[in-house]
Amino acid sequence: MSTSTRNSITGYQMPTLLYPSSALEPVISQKTVEYHFGKHLQTYVDNLNRLAHGNEYEKMGLREIVERAPEGPLLNNAGQVLNHVLYFEQFTPYPKANNRPEGTLKGAINFDFGNFETLKHKMEDACNSLFGSGWVWLTQDERGKLEVMRCYNGDNPARWHMKPLYGIDVWEHAYYLDYQNRRAEHVKRLWEIVDWELVESRMDL
Ligand code: MN
Repeated sequence: MSTSTRNSITGYQMPTLLYPSSALEPVISQKTVEYHFGKHLQTYVDNLNRLAHGNEYEKMGLREIVERAPEGPLLNNAGQVLNHVLYFEQFTPYPKANNRPEGTLKGAINFDFGNFETLKHKMEDACNSLFGSGWVWLTQDERGKLEVMRCYNGDNPARWHMKPLYGIDVWEHAYYLDYQNRRAEHVKRLWEIVDWELVESRMDL
């Protein structure tokens, strides 16, 4: 998994968007990608660099900060940087008809949830019933079991030593330009653009 890199001179760097900003249309519009990646994520990166400057967190990796920082602005911004690096990496500009997991990941989903449809319903329900801002993740625990995990605000499953595999951002900034208040419709359409091979690569195989 790629994470935002840092060095002691320039701090955390913005990740590279691996596809053109229009590539996820019509599921996510070019305008939303430009604001979400270009403005929101940039702000989290800038805040993280400011808050980690000159203290014990300056030399830590992103995951280490998320695991160790106390509740507060530094943790919030580090969590959101990690969340968004994972988020923008997990989508494919080349959607396939009937896009779904295959191979090892498919087997693990069938073992832990029964089938892919059940996982989809669980994640959609978790998104639609999350009050306020947050994330819903497909995660893997230390024993390899897959779970659906709801995180509020900028939390990331790494905080609880869970591996984040596929994350849905349900902050309004992720969908409001395209779907307004129709969060459920946005979440449902995201299944079309998930890069399942990339998601599987985040598992402990
Ligand atoms: Mn976001």
